[in-house]
Amino acid sequence: MKAAIYPGSFDPITKGHIDVIERALKIFDRVIIAVGENLEKKSFFTTKEKIWMIRESTGHLKNIEIDSFSGLLLGYVKKKKCNVILRGLRAVSDFEFEFQRALMNRKLDGDIETVFIMTKEDYVFLNSGIVKEIAQFKGNVSQFVPEAVAKKLKEKFP
Ligand code: ADP
Repeated sequence: MKAAIYPGSFDPITKGHIDVIERALKIFDRVIIAVGENLEKKSFFTTKEKIWMIRESTGHLKNIEIDSFSGLLLGYVKKKKCNVILRGLRAVSDFEFEFQRALMNRKLDGDIETVFIMTKEDYVFLNSGIVKEIAQFKGNVSQFVPEAVAKKLKEKFP
């Protein structure tokens, strides 16, 4: 059984994230979606809300696990007895940051591999920040996020 851990802020989960997860499930037997509780990066949604939205948005998928972690990602990966970190790649802008992270993680633990999955072209420009911005100004986010997320955003920005 080969599992991959997909860590992220998921603030909130978008169709871009879902696309990455669906593609990963064609390669791995199991994908663990792990919401990182990052002290530096201020979140709009609570971890509980994020997990609820992820659960609601991934009901059609088998072989996934939804979890959260705090502290160093590598510690969490070890705890889960996993050695693959899954990350999504959008445009060139993601590359430098992701490359640095992946190499640093490899330096810290040579057993861990980072695997990148390219998203569908439609989602190349999509990120959670843009979605929140659109929702805040009452724009329609339904083409960018799963239904449960759109609903939750409506509640937050009535
Ligand atoms: P983080 O704060 O760790 O970057 P995110 O939730 O923003 O967390 O993203 C988690 C992962 O998903 C990252 O690897 C990011 O590049 C990827 N990702 C986010 N949005 C998209 C998208 N639209 N298409 C492909 N990958 C994406």
